[in-house]
Amino acid sequence: MAQKTLLKGRVLSFDGSPFEGEPTDAARLDEAVLIQDGRVSALGTADDLTRAHPDADVRNYGARLIMAGFIDPHVHYPQTAMIASWGKRLIDWLNTYTFPEEMKFGDIDYATEIANRYLDLTTAHGTTTMCSFCTIHPESVDAFFTAAQNRGQRVVAGKTCMDRNAPDGLRDTAQTAYDQSEALLEKWHGVDRLSYAITPRFSPTSTPEQLEAMGALWAEHPHCLMQTHLSEQTDEIEWVRSLFPDARDYLDTYEKFGLLGTNGLYGHVIHLEDRERDRLREVDAALVHCPTSNTFIGSGLFDMNGLIHDGHRVGLATDTGGGSSFSMLRTMAAAYEIGQLRGRPLHPAQLLWLGTVGSARTLRMDDRIGNIAPGMEADLIVLDLASTPAIAQREAHADDIWEAVFPTIMMGDDRAISEVWIGGRPAGF
Ligand SMILES: [Zn+2]
Repeated sequence: MAQKTLLKGRVLSFDGSPFEGEPTDAARLDEAVLIQDGRVSALGTADDLTRAHPDADVRNYGARLIMAGFIDPHVHYPQTAMIASWGKRLIDWLNTYTFPEEMKFGDIDYATEIANRYLDLTTAHGTTTMCSFCTIHPESVDAFFTAAQNRGQRVVAGKTCMDRNAPDGLRDTAQTAYDQSEALLEKWHGVDRLSYAITPRFSPTSTPEQLEAMGALWAEHPHCLMQTHLSEQTDEIEWVRSLFPDARDYLDTYEKFGLLGTNGLYGHVIHLEDRERDRLREVDAALVHCPTSNTFIGSGLFDMNGLIHDGHRVGLATDTGGGSSFSMLRTMAAAYEIGQLRGRPLHPAQLLWLGTVGSARTLRMDDRIGNIAPGMEADLIVLDLASTPAIAQREAHADDIWEAVFPTIMMGDDRAISEVWIGGRPAGF
């Protein structure tokens, strides 16, 4: 007989978007969730589910909040060891901190060590799926997928392609980028819970020939995601303009080479021109907001309200290690702060939705992960809403679930994560 597990607590799920109508109307609260064969099989009252499934193994989490695991659709796992490096803006930051570290990932042992360290840290922070840039080395992709496969995790990753404006040892060519990406795609895409993403780092580090090769590869594998960076800093945009004098704008440097599409993920997207916004929406591309990175590297304030209002698909990500935290809670707090600076505070329901359903939508995986509903994969977390004395004293006199969870969003970290379930099994951390 199939193993059944009944989790009791306060179960939060979404049956609509909290950006349409009253934010709280999109959320539902149940008392229990039943897991069977790695999937959610039912939601309901504790009494009903206990009666219907007397053979289930029961875990009672009391007042704790059970919700979908966090989904982080823009990270660089190879930057784990250099997170929180001081004092640079984007281009100097890449040259000073990022590229020397990424150089090490041709060594499969080092790549494996960091992949496992990264997945240990992110599991402890309640993140169950991420979409990662690797390095130019195929070993860095093999290491990450192998580590995730061993844990039964759903992840997306790709070889980061660069053939200019990067140091010796961190450049491929248009041809090797194509060949190695294709070989990795065929090796890993669709194996277990793993998906490949075609990954040009960003326009400044790829020649037109390499962008064209990436576009050709995507055209041959349009079901794959394609991830890159777009319009992060103003001096980066000026650099792109000088490298691609014929392009209409930054987005055009992707668009003209076949790298604009419905399965594209564009990280940062802060300083967009009107044409770029319109084209991204027309093709229904995914935009990924990385708020701790944007404040840490001093990039600017993402227009969450305007972009969502215009109908863009938006997710929330850490951008480890340009972002300053592995925590999606801290990331939600930063998104809230950026919203305040733009005059539009986000409701806790909107923040939690962005870090789960919203991010799953950017990965085109919202039918499988990012929410709790029958048939979905059982990647769940249990949040302690009183994980520190400071949070507990505020939560103690909350009037409703949203006032109870908001102190954890603003002040919480890995101490708030009581338990993580990946594919219906507890993930030890
Ligand atoms: Zn990034």
